[in-house]
Amino acid sequence: MMSAETNRDIAQVSKQIQAIRGMNDCLPEQSGLWQWVEQTIRDVVKSYGYQEIRTPVVESTELFKRSIGEVTDIVEKEMYTFEDRNGDSLTLRPEGTASCVRAGNEHGLLYNQQQRLWYMGPMFRHERPQKGRYRQFHQFGVETFGLAGPDIDVEVILMTARLWQKFGMADKVSLEINSLGSSEARANYRDALVAFLSQHAEQLDEDSKRRMTTNPLRVLDSKNPDVQALLKDAPDLLDYLDEESKQHFDLLCERLTQAGIQFRVNSRLVRGLDYYNRTVFEWVTDALGAQGTVCAGGRYDGLVEQLGGKTTPAVGFAMGLERLVLLLESLQLVQLPPEVDVYLSLLGEKAEAFGLTLAESLRDAVPGLKLQTHCGGGNLKKQMKRADKSGAGIALIIGEQEVEAAVAGVKYLREDKPQLQVSIEQLPSLLSDVLKQNH
Ligand code: ATP
Ligand code: MG
Repeated sequence: MMSAETNRDIAQVSKQIQAIRGMNDCLPEQSGLWQWVEQTIRDVVKSYGYQEIRTPVVESTELFKRSIGEVTDIVEKEMYTFEDRNGDSLTLRPEGTASCVRAGNEHGLLYNQQQRLWYMGPMFRHERPQKGRYRQFHQFGVETFGLAGPDIDVEVILMTARLWQKFGMADKVSLEINSLGSSEARANYRDALVAFLSQHAEQLDEDSKRRMTTNPLRVLDSKNPDVQALLKDAPDLLDYLDEESKQHFDLLCERLTQAGIQFRVNSRLVRGLDYYNRTVFEWVTDALGAQGTVCAGGRYDGLVEQLGGKTTPAVGFAMGLERLVLLLESLQLVQLPPEVDVYLSLLGEKAEAFGLTLAESLRDAVPGLKLQTHCGGGNLKKQMKRADKSGAGIALIIGEQEVEAAVAGVKYLREDKPQLQVSIEQLPSLLSDVLKQNH
């Protein structure tokens, strides 16, 4: 007889284990669109001469505390931080910029050099999961180093605009920009802001009250509508800009206008991370409800030094891929090619043996062809069901007779065309035509 304990153990073992809340599987029906998005991004960054950098997903906790800022949403409450077996404090990266700068410093890529880098990969933040907000999400980002002028700010913004074009959603997103000025300008502004906030302290929520003393500019980033309403009368950051930052900003605006990019100056835009100075920008959409920011970035001239390197100007952005994919799905603009072009149906043992080498030679002869070979036998009806499910436009049917005669039956699965018989020799040219049609 089994003990109660053993019964419980068995129940435990057979219970399905679920994914972690806020961390998603990307299933086969979704991965096609993800791959298309990623490929489009790769093509665009290449067309600007940017190079990829890949960094580990785990870093020292200290890296993010020192760069993102202690008094920010990310560091205060969103990081996945743990002790490893040596007792070191490690953190799953919540964003990509800090790691890029760390790697750049560590490998001597930054000092006295210019770099135009990009990355793509998973990020981790312990937030409340909802549509467009997850605990593991993916960002594509760009970081440039060693370039101080507004010309590079314009370049990275133009790159994002080109991406919206490629995604077919240029009319669904709009650009907001602002300048945070120099650190002195921000210090002056901070004083004015604190004076204002102190007068209205009773209208602030707890978070904002606390931030008023620890990191006042963070109050501008509050998501509380009451706080946002109050801020309408707050002093304006742009009134406190230093002369150089003002020139930088004016030139940025001028060049964007010349390039035909529409934008709105939003003097409350401060971004959720502390390392920014001068230019900050966000691309927003109203097609995703509350999670409206699809891309955000700016200049961070102080960060390289803050992380132990030599002073190096820098500007970059990060784009949230889940929000992008959600938007593309809801707009239904992307027409993906089928996952399979041709299904090779093989009836009987002789055909199976012949089919293996035939499939390989067709893949050699027609580069890019997506050919799926039927495995597991079965009659024609069963094989045609599989062929249909594969998404293929045509099925090649080979039985014993076809092997003898060196021909294949060609059945059109999505078009009203009669079935043909084609010699094996002619198959490559027929399949090349099919491929052209599909792409
Ligand atoms: P939000 O204000 O929406 O929290 P954020 O200011 O924290 O955004 P950034 O750190 O600037 O965002 O990240 C850049 C982009 O990454 C965001 O604009 C968004 O598209 C995406 N992103 C950020 N956090 C998440 C998340 N938890 N889930 C999905 N995407 C996210
Ligand atoms: Mg956030």
